[in-house]
Amino acid sequence: MINTALQKTASMLVAGGDGQLSRVTVRNVCFGGEQVPVIAGPCAIENEECLRETAFKVRAAGAVMLRGGAYKPRTSPYSFQGHGIKGLECLARIGEEMNMPVITELMDAEDLPAVMEHTDIIQVGARNMYNYSLLRKLGKINKAVVLKRGISATIEEWLLAAEYILAGGNREVILCERGIRSAETWTRNTLDLNAVALVKQLSHLPVIVDPSHGTGVRSLVAPMSMAALAAGADGLLIEVHPHPENALSDGEQSLTPKGFSQLMRQLEPLAALLGRRVR
Ligand code: PEP
Ligand code: MN
Repeated sequence: MINTALQKTASMLVAGGDGQLSRVTVRNVCFGGEQVPVIAGPCAIENEECLRETAFKVRAAGAVMLRGGAYKPRTSPYSFQGHGIKGLECLARIGEEMNMPVITELMDAEDLPAVMEHTDIIQVGARNMYNYSLLRKLGKINKAVVLKRGISATIEEWLLAAEYILAGGNREVILCERGIRSAETWTRNTLDLNAVALVKQLSHLPVIVDPSHGTGVRSLVAPMSMAALAAGADGLLIEVHPHPENALSDGEQSLTPKGFSQLMRQLEPLAALLGRRVR
C-alpha cells in the first residue's frame, strides 16, 4: 500500500520519504505545524450582512479562516437547505473583502466545479464520509479537503475514507473529528478526543476538531476546544453567529462573536504552554 493514511511506514512515502508529518498549507494558513489555525463562521451562509459581520468579528478575535455552508445537509428536507451558488458567491466575496481564506461543504459531485471556483478548502461532511465515488473525485483535484468523520464511523473507516482521496493523488487532506453518535442524549454527539490523540499516532495527516457539532451545546464549545488542543488537535472549526437565537441552522451550538473572542483569549496561553500558537 502506498499513500496510506493508516500506516506510519508507508506514510513516509506521502511525506516525501523523510517520515515527516504532513502539513497542509492553504494560502497563509498551515495545518500540522506550530500554528493551530482556528476556522470560524456561521453554520450556513444566510445573507451578506450577517456573514460580513461574523467574518469581521471572528477575524478581529484571531480566526484565520472563514467557514459557511451553502449546501446544507439537514435532517429534515423541510429545514433551510442553504442558498447554493448564491451562498458560494457571497462566501467568496466576503472572504476576499476580509482577506480570509474560506471553507465550505460540498454535498454533491455535480456542484464540484462551482465549489472549486469559490472556496479555498472543500469540506466533506459527516454524512458523506462513506460516499466513495465523491471521495475518488476529490482525489483528482488540486485543492485541500477537510474530511469529517462519519456519524458512527470507526477510526479505521475514517482513515480509509481519507485513503480514497490520497490514493487518487491529492495529498492535501485534513481530518476533522466532529463527534460520533453514542448512547448519550444530553449532547448532540460525543466528541471523541481519544480519536484525535490516536490518529495523531496512526497517521501523518493533520487532525482538526469541531467542538460545535461535537457537543451541540454552546456552553460546551469552549471547554472542549481547550481539551482538543491538549489532545493534540492541529486546528479548530467553530460555529459563530451574531444572533444565534435567530440562526437558520445550529444556533444552539453557535458561539456569539463575544463568546468566540473570549475563547480565543483562553486558547492563547494554553497553545503557548503546548509549544503552539493559535494565530
Ligand atoms: C457543518 O459543518 O455545518 C456540518 C453539517 O457538519 P457535519 O457534516 O459534521 O454534520
Ligand atoms: Mn452546522
